[in-house]
Amino acid sequence: MQVSHPVYDVVVVGGGINGVGVAVDAVGRGLSVFLCEKDDLASHTSSASSKLIHGGLRYLEHKEFRLVHEALVEREILLAKAPHIIRPLRFIMPHQPHLRPAWLIRTGLFFYDHLGKREKLAGSNHITFDAATSPLKAEITQGFEYSDCTVDDARLVVLNAIQARERGAHIATQTRCTSAYRENGLWVVHLENMQGSYTVQAKALVNAAGPWVAQFIQQNLKQKSPYGLRLVQGSHIIVPRIYDGDKAFILQNDDQRIVFAIPYLDQYTLIGTTDHEYQGDLNKVAITQPEMDYLLDVYNDHFKHQLAPQDILYTYSGVRSLCDDESDNPSAITRDYTLALAQEQGAPLLSIFGGKLTTYRKLAESAMTHLQPFFPTMKKPWTEKALLPGAENLVSVELLIQQIVQAVQDVSFELASRWAHAYGSRVWGFLNGVSISDELGGGVGHGLFAKEVDYLVDQEWARTSQDILWRRTKLGFQFSTDEIQLLDQYLLKLLIKRSQDTAA
Ligand SMILES: Cc1cc2nc3c(=O)[nH]c(=O)nc-3n(C[C@H](O)[C@H](O)[C@H](O)COP(=O)(O)OP(=O)(O)OC[C@H]3O[C@@H](n4cnc5c(N)ncnc54)[C@H](O)[C@@H]3O)c2cc1C
Repeated sequence: MQVSHPVYDVVVVGGGINGVGVAVDAVGRGLSVFLCEKDDLASHTSSASSKLIHGGLRYLEHKEFRLVHEALVEREILLAKAPHIIRPLRFIMPHQPHLRPAWLIRTGLFFYDHLGKREKLAGSNHITFDAATSPLKAEITQGFEYSDCTVDDARLVVLNAIQARERGAHIATQTRCTSAYRENGLWVVHLENMQGSYTVQAKALVNAAGPWVAQFIQQNLKQKSPYGLRLVQGSHIIVPRIYDGDKAFILQNDDQRIVFAIPYLDQYTLIGTTDHEYQGDLNKVAITQPEMDYLLDVYNDHFKHQLAPQDILYTYSGVRSLCDDESDNPSAITRDYTLALAQEQGAPLLSIFGGKLTTYRKLAESAMTHLQPFFPTMKKPWTEKALLPGAENLVSVELLIQQIVQAVQDVSFELASRWAHAYGSRVWGFLNGVSISDELGGGVGHGLFAKEVDYLVDQEWARTSQDILWRRTKLGFQFSTDEIQLLDQYLLKLLIKRSQDTAA
């Protein structure tokens, strides 16, 4: 029997921020798109970040002016595209005169204020600390303040994937690309999921496999990687909230690195990150003891309140896939992205090296520029002004919180706020017509309602409790093992029901 394999314009391998960014841009320009992700969306580097949409102040020191300029411009663009998941954040930089002179920091901040378009975010200023109220040690008396933004990184990925799907892209999670080869001017792409294996064809293949980018070229495509790759591990620790206020700190360390302490989910402080060459299993990246000690030391050098290892509630680690620029020092390797186009028999392969969450949209536009000669009828760039799902009809997140509180009787402000920030105006997708919180299908626990879980499964590709608790929501901190088991049982029943519905 002849098996027909659908032909797409573009197949994207990888459902991190870069893969979904390319998918959404391509489909919006009129191309047919298929994206495969071997695990859950954002289950690797794109959910292990410092969760900042930032210019990257420290990259100025490495003279990465192109990258910083692009990232600074993107801050305001992304803030407008997704104000529910991206928020302005003020950063305090304690001044340590023996590390960097004040004039150098002032100059850096001047550039930071002016290199990109800045309309919504406040500029930088000098500050003095009041010894009685400052959380910093008494000897730190002065510093600087500037603006960047914080983002829910995993949700940024999911929202782009939703937008791609709504414009016609096929998004296949839990689906691995096992191999691909060129035949008659097309890519033949082999895929594998729980149900078995299948094949699709593509006019162009985009390799957005993140840390696996070079491995994918060598092992799955049996070709030579055009660039060397440096895999650099970065880890974070999460501790109970250690200071009042909603500002973040950027701490300069005497190894010339910086470490952030960022308010996280109201009750916590996120501290990171590290930079270490990584050689282990990319599927099992975990913080090491020296990394924990390093982060605690940098924090303890600055703050009055001292942290001990037992204060660490949770840790996470990710691997940056950086284009090898032969720097000796992992933290000095460029964070800019490089796109490599390989073209034989008319079927292009575009591989993505490096990148940042902040610059994913520009990276996708650049990917489209590379692919344009193969798709001459491709439409113009469109993503700059396009709102991400949930930002439509969103006057402000504060107003949405009020509307939820009015519409859903008995709902707490905290829950309404979590919903508004996670889903924006899409929250009505599962709150529609419901007026009493108890009617939402019974609490699964800690403000997670069955209706929300159903929505996450039906609309956001969630399959496991991990997907829901750590990436779609950030409720994982609150769930006990028993509660996770209950959620898993609920999910199992729901997924069986959904597959029966599909088969019927
Ligand atoms: C510690 C740390 C902190 C960071 N902080 C920030 C920050 O604050 N701000 C910022 O802008 N950037 C930050 N970054 C950078 C940013 O997180 C990354 O640049 C970005 O997430 C990379 O996305 P990606 O899509 O390339 O990779 P990934 O998110 O890793 O996605 C690649 C995907 O490809 C999939 N895949 C691989 N092989 C296959 C296959 N054969 N078939 C199917 N799927 C496959 C993987 O499962 C994976 O999900 C940070 C990075 C790290 C490590």
